[in-house]
Amino acid sequence: SSFAALGLSQTLVDAVAEQGYTQPYPIQQQAIPAVLTGRDILGIAKTGSGKTASFVLPILQRFAGRKGAGRRSMRVLVLVPTRELAVQVAEVFQTFAEYLKTPLQTTAVFGGVSINPQMIALRNAEIVVATPGRLLDLISQNAADLSTLDTLVLDEADKMLELGFAEEMNQVLAQVPQQRQTLLFSATLGDAIQDIRDNLLRDPLLIDI
Ligand code: AMP
Repeated sequence: SSFAALGLSQTLVDAVAEQGYTQPYPIQQQAIPAVLTGRDILGIAKTGSGKTASFVLPILQRFAGRKGAGRRSMRVLVLVPTRELAVQVAEVFQTFAEYLKTPLQTTAVFGGVSINPQMIALRNAEIVVATPGRLLDLISQNAADLSTLDTLVLDEADKMLELGFAEEMNQVLAQVPQQRQTLLFSATLGDAIQDIRDNLLRDPLLIDI
């Protein structure tokens, strides 16, 4: 199978080739066509499986070729457990977004650093990768607004729970629109992840790598 056969546009097919991806990994083969059709997903996959590109590429395809400037609001939120993962996921979005012929800002927000630059970066960001606690701080200071989201990704959800972010996650989830696409990724499928699936996903495609 090829990236083109998964429904990605020529721009993104060329981009993955330039990044040295020759063949889609199994999670990408299953997730990319489903995400492109708007379906919810539960992906059971570990780091190294290629899970990041499995959501980054089809999400970016929605922004490709759009016209006009206008005011930008948050469209995509990726919740992650750690600062390291936030930076890493934002970099993958940025790498591929550069190939699209539209201005598109991605920003990573996480705790342990000063909040002001993040407040400024959020003003024009359409794609936000965030750890839950810092995102809640930004919301409480009116620097982030989740009401315009159409896509929510929970990455390494089992690790977010392990690190004790259940309450913060729930507070964030209470603020996202009902009408949205949700992509849930976890290395394991325990009871807590099944509860999240039952509460947040609508007819999800299960991808178990
Ligand atoms: P991830 O599991 O998302 O952290 O990705 C693991 C690594 O695999 C990253 O360094 C990616 O750049 C790389 N990668 C992802 N998809 C592919 C692919 N289809 N072909 C080659 N490398 C890939």
